[in-house]
Amino acid sequence: MNPLRMIIMGAPGSGKGTLTSKLLKKLPQIHSLSSGDILRREMANGSEIGKMAKSYIERGDLLPDKFMANLIQAELEQQKWLDAKTSFLLDGFPRTGNQAIELESVLVPHNSDINMVIELDVPPEVILNRISNRWVHISGRVYNLEYNPPKVPFKDDITGEPLFKRPDDNPETFKVRLDKYFAELEPLREYYEKKGVYVKVSGETSDIIFPKLLSAVEAKVKSGL
Ligand code: ATP
Ligand code: MG
Repeated sequence: MNPLRMIIMGAPGSGKGTLTSKLLKKLPQIHSLSSGDILRREMANGSEIGKMAKSYIERGDLLPDKFMANLIQAELEQQKWLDAKTSFLLDGFPRTGNQAIELESVLVPHNSDINMVIELDVPPEVILNRISNRWVHISGRVYNLEYNPPKVPFKDDITGEPLFKRPDDNPETFKVRLDKYFAELEPLREYYEKKGVYVKVSGETSDIIFPKLLSAVEAKVKSGL
């Protein structure tokens, strides 16, 4: 059986993180990596990578393609996920056509390529509404004060540590991120449609999207890939 090599794409706040963690509960053999979570961890550690990322993230800008590709490659190698058996899902990378090309060149030497791309299609009005209610834990766990509140206000359910507000979750920066997402979507979609691996899942909430996502991934896994 070939491993699943999947990408989950969607506008900021479309539910990538939430849906990924739901999916991994059902399919625990899949590993996941979120580029935004890696960068936020580096920022919290005050590393050189974190310092470099900070100004971009606070402006809502994308980091350079090559820099991101190297970061993700290093992480995939360190986790030893590039072997022939490990199924993984990437959230937040690739984000541009160039990043998709970079990723392909990382996978090809391992006789592998992306075999499933999911686009989460959520109306922007719905997303804008959500974002002011989003609080996160440094692990990447996401809470929504309305739909998915923590058990103890402003504390992570698992560690009890404080939640924080992402510096880029303010209305101005958010708008920039949203525009950038839609500007990059078309080249990515074209790239993966040509490979025949592109699936779009639409809905207003994660509860509506999740069953569609799960059955698409399960069907893919059953197909032997
Ligand atoms: P969300 O986490 O709400 O789904 P998002 O996709 O905007 O939204 P992250 O993936 O967490 O957010 O990324 C946050 C920021 O990190 C981006 O705005 C960008 O500055 C930087 N970043 C993350 N991934 C990449 C990437 N692949 N290429 C360039 N910059 C990136
Ligand atoms: Mg995210």
